[in-house]
Amino acid sequence: MQYVKNLPTYMVQRYHGWKATTYTENKAWYRRLADEGQRPRAMIISCCDSRVHVTSIFGADEGEFFIHRNIANLVPPFTQDGDHHGTSAAIEYAVTALKVAHVVVLGHSNCGGIKGCHDMCAGLAPELEDKSSFVGRWMDIMRPGYDRVSSLPEEDRTRALEKEAVLVSLENLMTFPFVQEAVESGRLSLHGLWNDIGDGSLQQYEAESRSFVAI
Ligand SMILES: [Zn+2]
Repeated sequence: MQYVKNLPTYMVQRYHGWKATTYTENKAWYRRLADEGQRPRAMIISCCDSRVHVTSIFGADEGEFFIHRNIANLVPPFTQDGDHHGTSAAIEYAVTALKVAHVVVLGHSNCGGIKGCHDMCAGLAPELEDKSSFVGRWMDIMRPGYDRVSSLPEEDRTRALEKEAVLVSLENLMTFPFVQEAVESGRLSLHGLWNDIGDGSLQQYEAESRSFVAI
């Protein structure tokens, strides 16, 4: 594999910095994490976007969150077609093996995936409609969500679609039989959040008011 290269220097230096400080100061704790295995209480599904920093905003340590990231924090509907389903595999493992008590879908502002979805559904991004586009086919999950926001003024549509992505994902979570069963038996609760990257605010979906409300 001649195409595999050594890490760039800045990453090597940062690693050594972490090993000499954070790791060394908490060595016993890391050993215990390794020996005892993980027991996270929550699974977080967030966007791949580098600005979404879920462990930072919740002050979480290693071992606390089982985190799955994908483009636009989407959960696909439950399908058993024998194909490769990374997100569904992560959900299955979190709920049936780790038995997390919470699954949190975390959306965010200025999401490039959602913008692409908006443009594709509005007919402005033909390249995403191509069968060969992985991003486009992934964003097909959000087509029902786009239909719900398409009547809004254009300037409000993308933000509404970011929040709709959280709702579509929560709805799709409930199509997984083991999720539905865990929710109905009270072992698992589902949560929907949306984070504004610029002002640091966090909103959660409240079922009673059917709206996102600031925390
Ligand atoms: Zn995003």
